[in-house]
Amino acid sequence: MSRDLDDLYQSVILDHNKTPRNFHELPPPASHADGHNPLCGDRLTVWVDLEGDTVKDVAFLGNGCAISKASASMMTAAVKGKSRAEAMALADEFQKLVTGKLEGAAERKALGKLQALAGVSEYPVRVKCASLAWHTLKAAIAGAAEPVSTE
Ligand code: ZN
Repeated sequence: MSRDLDDLYQSVILDHNKTPRNFHELPPPASHADGHNPLCGDRLTVWVDLEGDTVKDVAFLGNGCAISKASASMMTAAVKGKSRAEAMALADEFQKLVTGKLEGAAERKALGKLQALAGVSEYPVRVKCASLAWHTLKAAIAGAAEPVSTE
């Protein structure tokens, strides 16, 4: 089964790129982390406001290609309200999705709209664009002080 660029740039991706969700800063005490994908030039900052073990709010700002921006936007919508462990698990599932390692229809379905990015698995360079926001989210949750790089 082959996918072409039309599938890669599905309407949901275009929509999130054009109108990114949660595209703003969060004030302290939200923690944040910076992410950089030197291969493409994508740069993101992700803010996470944890209340106890719950991701109360999450937001991002940044510049990058359509895939990186759409993925970050979809990431914020997907993890808001989840527990820290659920957000981390979702990050791992997403990584499997975009690297073509997610087996099973139920597992894919559990990712909801994030499945729109499954097509990047056929474009190795784009995998890093799609996963940058999730790597940065993990760093923000962990409270990492060092910037994250996909390289
Ligand atoms: Zn990119």
